[in-house]
Amino acid sequence: MSERILTCRLATDADLLSALTETVREAGITKASVQLIGAVRRAELGFYHQDTKTYETHVFDKPLEIIAGMGNVSIKDGEAFVHLHLCLGDEVGACFGGHAMPGCVVFACEAVIRELPGDAPVRQLDETTGLPLWGAGPGVY
Ligand code: ZN
Repeated sequence: MSERILTCRLATDADLLSALTETVREAGITKASVQLIGAVRRAELGFYHQDTKTYETHVFDKPLEIIAGMGNVSIKDGEAFVHLHLCLGDEVGACFGGHAMPGCVVFACEAVIRELPGDAPVRQLDETTGLPLWGAGPGVY
Protein backbone atom coordinates (compact mmCIF):
# COMPACT_ATOMS: atom_id res chain seq x y z
CA MET A 1 0.00 0.00 0.00
CA SER A 2 1.30 3.42 -0.86
CA GLU A 3 0.63 6.23 1.53
CA ARG A 4 -0.90 9.35 0.10
CA ILE A 5 -0.46 12.95 1.11
CA LEU A 6 -3.53 15.05 0.45
CA THR A 7 -3.35 18.81 0.27
CA CYS A 8 -6.77 20.36 0.38
CA ARG A 9 -8.37 23.75 0.69
CA LEU A 10 -11.53 23.62 2.74
CA ALA A 11 -14.50 25.67 1.56
CA THR A 12 -15.38 28.98 3.18
CA ASP A 13 -18.32 28.56 5.58
CA ALA A 14 -17.83 24.79 5.84
CA ASP A 15 -17.81 23.20 9.26
CA LEU A 16 -14.14 22.43 9.82
CA LEU A 17 -14.53 18.96 11.35
CA SER A 18 -17.26 17.90 8.93
CA ALA A 19 -15.20 18.98 5.93
CA LEU A 20 -12.11 17.13 7.14
CA THR A 21 -14.11 14.01 7.97
CA GLU A 22 -15.79 14.06 4.57
CA THR A 23 -12.42 14.46 2.87
CA VAL A 24 -10.79 11.47 4.60
CA ARG A 25 -13.85 9.24 4.21
CA GLU A 26 -14.13 10.02 0.49
CA ALA A 27 -10.43 9.20 0.09
CA GLY A 28 -10.79 5.97 2.07
CA ILE A 29 -8.21 7.09 4.64
CA THR A 30 -8.46 5.56 8.12
CA LYS A 31 -4.97 6.25 9.53
CA ALA A 32 -3.31 9.62 9.09
CA SER A 33 -1.81 12.68 10.67
CA VAL A 34 -3.42 16.05 9.97
CA GLN A 35 -2.02 19.55 10.05
CA LEU A 36 -3.71 22.73 8.97
CA ILE A 37 -3.52 26.50 9.03
CA GLY A 38 -5.91 29.27 8.04
CA ALA A 39 -8.68 31.17 9.75
CA VAL A 40 -12.15 30.58 11.15
CA ARG A 41 -15.22 32.81 11.32
CA ARG A 42 -16.12 31.32 14.71
CA ALA A 43 -14.94 28.43 16.81
CA GLU A 44 -15.96 26.02 19.51
CA LEU A 45 -13.15 24.51 21.55
CA GLY A 46 -13.45 21.89 24.24
CA PHE A 47 -11.58 21.52 27.51
CA TYR A 48 -11.82 18.08 29.08
CA HIS A 49 -12.31 18.13 32.83
CA GLN A 50 -10.39 15.09 34.03
CA ASP A 51 -12.18 14.98 37.38
CA THR A 52 -15.74 14.99 36.02
CA LYS A 53 -14.84 13.42 32.66
CA THR A 54 -16.86 15.99 30.79
CA TYR A 55 -16.06 18.53 28.11
CA GLU A 56 -16.57 22.22 28.76
CA THR A 57 -17.13 24.03 25.47
CA HIS A 58 -15.84 27.54 24.85
CA VAL A 59 -17.52 29.45 22.04
CA PHE A 60 -15.59 32.14 20.17
CA ASP A 61 -18.02 34.13 18.02
CA LYS A 62 -15.41 36.12 16.14
CA PRO A 63 -12.82 35.72 13.40
CA LEU A 64 -9.62 34.02 14.55
CA GLU A 65 -6.46 32.83 12.87
CA ILE A 66 -5.73 29.13 12.92
CA ILE A 67 -2.17 29.39 14.23
CA ALA A 68 -1.87 25.62 14.33
CA GLY A 69 -4.18 22.71 13.81
CA MET A 70 -2.93 19.23 14.61
CA GLY A 71 -4.79 16.00 14.57
CA ASN A 72 -5.08 12.42 13.55
CA VAL A 73 -7.37 10.01 11.80
CA SER A 74 -8.33 6.62 13.19
CA ILE A 75 -11.44 4.47 13.42
CA LYS A 76 -14.30 5.14 15.80
CA ASP A 77 -17.61 3.29 15.66
CA GLY A 78 -16.48 1.58 12.46
CA GLU A 79 -15.78 4.79 10.54
CA ALA A 80 -12.88 7.13 9.91
CA PHE A 81 -12.78 9.72 12.68
CA VAL A 82 -10.84 13.00 12.83
CA HIS A 83 -9.45 14.12 16.19
CA LEU A 84 -8.26 17.72 15.94
CA HIS A 85 -6.78 20.28 18.30
CA LEU A 86 -6.55 23.97 17.45
CA CYS A 87 -4.51 26.93 18.58
CA LEU A 88 -6.36 30.09 17.50
CA GLY A 89 -5.06 33.65 17.60
CA ASP A 90 -7.00 36.93 17.86
CA GLU A 91 -6.30 40.44 16.55
CA VAL A 92 -3.64 41.17 19.17
CA GLY A 93 -2.02 37.77 18.89
CA ALA A 94 -3.52 36.26 22.02
CA CYS A 95 -4.04 32.54 21.61
CA PHE A 96 -6.74 30.16 22.67
CA GLY A 97 -6.55 26.45 22.26
CA GLY A 98 -8.39 23.23 22.74
CA HIS A 99 -10.16 20.24 21.30
CA ALA A 100 -11.96 21.20 18.08
CA MET A 101 -15.70 20.74 18.42
CA PRO A 102 -18.36 20.85 15.71
CA GLY A 103 -19.18 24.49 15.06
CA CYS A 104 -15.77 25.73 13.91
CA VAL A 105 -16.65 27.59 10.70
CA VAL A 106 -13.96 27.90 8.03
CA PHE A 107 -12.99 31.27 6.62
CA ALA A 108 -9.95 29.86 4.84
CA CYS A 109 -8.14 26.63 5.55
CA GLU A 110 -5.28 24.67 4.01
CA ALA A 111 -4.96 21.15 5.31
CA VAL A 112 -2.30 18.50 4.77
CA ILE A 113 -3.44 14.96 5.46
CA ARG A 114 -0.63 12.44 5.56
CA GLU A 115 -1.83 8.86 5.28
CA LEU A 116 0.10 6.41 7.47
CA PRO A 117 0.88 2.77 6.71
CA GLY A 118 -0.49 -0.22 8.56
CA ASP A 119 -3.75 -1.01 10.28
CA ALA A 120 -5.68 1.94 11.63
CA PRO A 121 -5.96 2.38 15.40
CA VAL A 122 -9.47 1.73 16.69
CA ARG A 123 -10.98 3.99 19.35
CA GLN A 124 -12.59 2.30 22.31
CA LEU A 125 -13.85 3.69 25.57
CA ASP A 126 -11.03 3.89 28.10
CA GLU A 127 -12.55 3.51 31.57
CA THR A 128 -9.71 5.36 33.32
CA THR A 129 -10.01 8.56 31.31
CA GLY A 130 -13.59 8.25 30.10
CA LEU A 131 -12.36 8.97 26.58
CA PRO A 132 -12.55 6.94 23.36
CA LEU A 133 -8.84 6.26 23.01
CA TRP A 134 -6.66 4.02 20.87
CA GLY A 135 -6.11 0.55 22.26
CA ALA A 136 -3.32 0.25 24.83
CA GLY A 137 -0.07 -1.21 23.63
CA PRO A 138 3.29 -0.29 22.20
CA GLY A 139 1.72 1.99 19.64
CA VAL A 140 2.83 -0.08 16.69
CA TYR A 141 -0.02 -1.06 14.42
ZN1 ZN B 1 -8.94 16.16 21.87
